[in-house]
Amino acid sequence: MLKKKVLEELRSIVGEANLATDRQDILCYSYDATQMEFPPDAVLHPADAMEVSAILRIANREMIPVFPRGAGSGFTGGSLPKGGGIVLVTTRMNRILRVDTENLIAEVEPGVVTEQFQQAVEKLGLFYPPDPASLKFSTLGGNVAENAGGPRAVKYGCTRDFVMGLEVVLPTGEIIRTGGETYKGVVGYDMTRLLCGSEGTLGVITRIIFKLLPLPEAKKTMLAIFDSIDGAAKAVSAIIKGKIIPTTLEFMDHATLLCVDRRFNLGLPPDGRAVLLIEVDGDPELVEKQALKIGEIIAPLGVVQFRVAKDSAESEQLWKVRRLVSPSLRDVNPDKYNEDIVVPRSRVPEVIRRIEKIQERYGIPIVNFGHAGDGNIHVNIMIDKLVPGMEEKAEKAIAEVFRAALDLGGTMSGEHGVGLSKAPYIELELNPAQIAAMKSLKHALDPNNVLNPGKMFSW
Ligand SMILES: Cc1cc2nc3c(=O)[nH]c(=O)nc-3n(C[C@H](O)[C@H](O)[C@H](O)COP(=O)(O)OP(=O)(O)OC[C@H]3O[C@@H](n4cnc5c(N)ncnc54)[C@H](O)[C@@H]3O)c2cc1C
Repeated sequence: MLKKKVLEELRSIVGEANLATDRQDILCYSYDATQMEFPPDAVLHPADAMEVSAILRIANREMIPVFPRGAGSGFTGGSLPKGGGIVLVTTRMNRILRVDTENLIAEVEPGVVTEQFQQAVEKLGLFYPPDPASLKFSTLGGNVAENAGGPRAVKYGCTRDFVMGLEVVLPTGEIIRTGGETYKGVVGYDMTRLLCGSEGTLGVITRIIFKLLPLPEAKKTMLAIFDSIDGAAKAVSAIIKGKIIPTTLEFMDHATLLCVDRRFNLGLPPDGRAVLLIEVDGDPELVEKQALKIGEIIAPLGVVQFRVAKDSAESEQLWKVRRLVSPSLRDVNPDKYNEDIVVPRSRVPEVIRRIEKIQERYGIPIVNFGHAGDGNIHVNIMIDKLVPGMEEKAEKAIAEVFRAALDLGGTMSGEHGVGLSKAPYIELELNPAQIAAMKSLKHALDPNNVLNPGKMFSW
């Protein structure tokens, strides 16, 4: 519970309408896309960096934890106020401040919704590629804080690759700018890259300068169904070896196909064991040529069906298979742990085989799909929390899934970050010296540990 005097001070900063403490007003800020729940003491909606700075100065004086939050769509509990404190929501800071069509950059506030930004720049013939599947509701600030990626990362990279500069309020309240508007710049440490993916633990992002690209003139979507996972995985490597970097190379395993087909009756071929959804973009003539070449490259690899969309309506039909994955999974079991391991792309079949063994050992259904082009597989461990002992078994299975990714030269998380849910596992991937260096960075910037405490490391 916050002291009355402190609440009055906070109210004078953000205004009566932008501070909430009533249960019904703060309830939804106790959750994100995990199934964890931690209620805050207060929820604040500041308007700008000055207000964020004033809040953080009070938080340091009073030793109150502050938890930055965008849309709350995170998959690891990063925005959740474990232990109580203030949830600082950025959604009032939701202006696209400028789009500079000469220098191909844009400056935005952190609360802008990802898709709205994409649509705004596309109207000007420009392109902001990072496309997390949550783009209809996630915020750009949340995307930067998590270094969000999406299907287009294989060709264009993740959010970090488009961030040129930031305005950030440090945990102690100072407002700084990092990076800038120039493509080059090597003066001082690269704070911009450090802050991208820092999960709201090193500062509150209040402005972002993004790099933009010209909007590709055309794209072509293809769906290839294979008779084995190995065939699909070999196809990924073969396409890239063939000097084509597709915009998208999405993978779905047999369990995923069964879920989608059972629920939505898409008539997928019964001998299909894995699917690749492939998209190329660029010059209209080039994308036609690339689609033909991809068909030729993958033909000997056990393709049982290959469809090329003729227009955007057909492309939408092909994407449907991928988009229907999430709603179908709940038919397997009502609860899920969604992990997002990454391995070098040539090792995708190996990691899938390891996961199949883990599934057999624990008797828990595991459904795999994701971004095969960059080796980022979403491993969905489907459980029913009401079945006694199932949650505990799932936790053991998760540790083994992480171990498999690490053994094959990969990482525990490509997109979702560590937050609360992966913090207990971080020592599997990072050694004590790495963790100590990261903690000393955190301590230097946040000596009172007020900003998003308890995240990333099990302190
Ligand atoms: C259906 C669904 C699909 C998803 N698909 C993808 C996907 O394809 N790729 C992917 O990468 N992720 C995906 N996610 C996860 C999630 O949407 C992303 O991590 C997203 O970037 C979070 O944005 P947000 O605004 O919801 O942030 P929140 O969930 O509110 O916060 C996430 C983290 O960022 C911090 N934070 C938020 N705003 C700021 C700020 N301004 N300054 C400092 N720290 C801040 C928070 O403290 C927290 O640690 C998906 C989630 C869902 C529910």
